[in-house]
Amino acid sequence: MKFPILKNKSANSHCITCKKELNDNFYVFNAGALKQMHKNYQIMDSDMKGFCSITAHLDDKAIHEHVSIAENTSMGQFEIYSCSLHCMRKFFEKVFDELANKINKKRV
Ligand SMILES: [Zn+2]
Repeated sequence: MKFPILKNKSANSHCITCKKELNDNFYVFNAGALKQMHKNYQIMDSDMKGFCSITAHLDDKAIHEHVSIAENTSMGQFEIYSCSLHCMRKFFEKVFDELANKINKKRV
């Protein structure tokens, strides 16, 4: 899997793990920002770009690594689809494995 999985786009059109075409039953990991317009009123905003990453900040080992999941997504929003919880779990395992591999390379 190549990271970021979303770059300059806001969603995948198939299962992120097994690549199966999605039907009426699927799972979504979504995140984003909304522009606050009034106390109880927010809107999507075309000026916003979304991102998502996990970072290891290990000062005592001089290790600073991250895995970017999404970059430069439109409207400050993004969605990652999977066909099952199993596939969603596998996706996040790959994200954490990628970060662990980056850290381990720095420790050698
Ligand atoms: Zn799947």
